[in-house]
Amino acid sequence: MKLILLGPPGAGKGTQAKRLQDRYGIAQISTGDMLRAEVAAGSAIGREARAVMESGALVSDDIIVRMLAARVEQPDCAKGFILDGFPRTVPQAEALDRMLDEKGMRLDAVIELKVDDAALVDRIAGRFTCAKCGAGYHDTFRPTHVAGKCDVCGATEFTRRADDNRETVAARLDAYHSQTAPILPHYAARGILRSVDGMAEIDDVTHQIEAVLDGLPEPA
Ligand code: AMP
Repeated sequence: MKLILLGPPGAGKGTQAKRLQDRYGIAQISTGDMLRAEVAAGSAIGREARAVMESGALVSDDIIVRMLAARVEQPDCAKGFILDGFPRTVPQAEALDRMLDEKGMRLDAVIELKVDDAALVDRIAGRFTCAKCGAGYHDTFRPTHVAGKCDVCGATEFTRRADDNRETVAARLDAYHSQTAPILPHYAARGILRSVDGMAEIDDVTHQIEAVLDGLPEPA
């Protein structure tokens, strides 16, 4: 099964992608996570991407498309993948079409998480992640059960993304509306776009997505 999760920053793409990965045994591919790993490693890509990411703008299509092409060749993608944060521009969507065509693959669905902009700043500004196991939390909406201790693995170190602040979120939302939302008609025209209500409770959003996926024809 090959899926795209589309939606603005803070819509819940990462949370839902992790759940789909567990349920369907397909790989979550987050270009944002891949870039953050490059930044942490201090690689050439990371050095080029860092300032762009901190400003809330998009990294060049060329870098992203090369990174993605290598990633889908990895063995964990054999049963399929969920693209989380890619494609982000029309040229990236076109590059993905060419890439899948060459491999004789096709997308099964593009799922749009619809969320009001007004909710996103609050959702993003409070996010934090367990530094050890990657479990995601939120100061207001999903605190740890015991303050300062990860519910999943018990670790006490947490990280916050450098771009999860109120100033950068506005730029990231602008980038979504001007560069990413124009992709939606590309997939709507092919009849594979499905929209779900990303304002609902996390479990409810998962159920909506599963209902869409369970209704799909057999994956290619
Ligand atoms: P994300 O984790 O998906 O919110 O991505 C964090 C940041 O990484 C974005 O604000 C961009 O600067 C960069 N980024 C991630 N994915 C892409 C992409 N597909 N195209 C361009 N920039 C990206």
